[in-house]
Amino acid sequence: MNAFWTEPDFDNHEVVHFVHDEKRGLTAIIALHSTHLGPAAGGTRFWHYAQPGAAMRDALRLSRGMSYKNAMAGLPMGGGKAVILASEDRAKTPEMLAAFGDAVEGLGGKYVTAEDVGISVEDMVAVKQRTEYVSGLPVGEGEAGGNPGPFTALGIYLGIKAAVQHKLGKDSVEGVHVAVQGTGSVGGGVARLLAKDGAKLTLADINSDNAEALASELGADTVSAEAIMSVGCDVFSPNALGAILNEEGIARLDCAIVAGGANNQLARPEHGAVLAQRGILYAPDYVINAGGIISVTMEYLCRRESAPCDINEVRKRIALIPDRLKTIWQESEATGSSPDRVADAMAQKLIGRG
Ligand code: NAD
Repeated sequence: MNAFWTEPDFDNHEVVHFVHDEKRGLTAIIALHSTHLGPAAGGTRFWHYAQPGAAMRDALRLSRGMSYKNAMAGLPMGGGKAVILASEDRAKTPEMLAAFGDAVEGLGGKYVTAEDVGISVEDMVAVKQRTEYVSGLPVGEGEAGGNPGPFTALGIYLGIKAAVQHKLGKDSVEGVHVAVQGTGSVGGGVARLLAKDGAKLTLADINSDNAEALASELGADTVSAEAIMSVGCDVFSPNALGAILNEEGIARLDCAIVAGGANNQLARPEHGAVLAQRGILYAPDYVINAGGIISVTMEYLCRRESAPCDINEVRKRIALIPDRLKTIWQESEATGSSPDRVADAMAQKLIGRG
């Protein structure tokens, strides 16, 4: 086995915790990439990995992404991520969640967790019984927090409008054609907001019934999940999986802009430059999709009485996403560096690694 710190995804993470509680059925990795700006914040993923190495890579990559995302969103939080290694049958038990809560509590506030893929609000409520370092819990009407999906969608919608203005010179998305990959919590929210403004939408989801139902509600078209990346459109909005922007995927694109919520869209760092060479404007994923973490963080800080609990404060902060993107695009044009590289350099500086 290679030394852990020579793994390609290891990026001077401050500390990586391996948790194994055999009696309560928990195996987890909690990676803290940076606590420079505050406690490392980032969700918990519950996933079955065929190879444990893949769980490690996920924890390393996702925790670094959270450092960058939180820094660029102006939040007083560092970046971390937890991965619970699920068995093949994906059995999740109260004992396992309790053991996970104890592990988070044991870090004494250096890591703050929330939902990610495979973890529900109910799971976080269970974790909360063992630790106070949790967010993404049910909140009251008009309060910051709760399900982050709609806030993520709002930031992406505003980011798409900024990209359309920047690249196409249009002040409205009316008649602008957006191809939406994934019509779940985030993609569905983005599609609804764009439809209100009169955008022309093409939707796709591997769950084609979902895409069809939303399309008939919004008067949109659908295509198969295989075809969505080749649709001739103004904006391709990826809201499903990561790593879709690889050589083959980028070659298929027939759009002017890529702007969507999926995490880790670039398969490898060099693919940002490949997009730029094709003249496609890219909205760096961790900048445009920060609405959810802004909401979850405000909820956490509100509970600790160090921030207002008002949902309008969350909206105000999400409304800053378009300006952040425009700054990145302007610097990219001025320097010739691709937008993802510009964003990475900005984020690294903010976390004291510039
Ligand atoms: P979700 O599970 O609600 O929706 C994802 C949808 O994508 C599902 O409907 C699924 O069927 C579909 N899908 C999966 N593979 C597909 C494929 N190959 N082609 C087309 N559709 C496919 O998840 P979500 O919360 O909407 O998250 C979507 C993406 O956004 C994920 O990458 C997630 O990491 C990222 N993200 C989510 C949030 C949030 O607040 N929920 C915040 C930041 C980033």
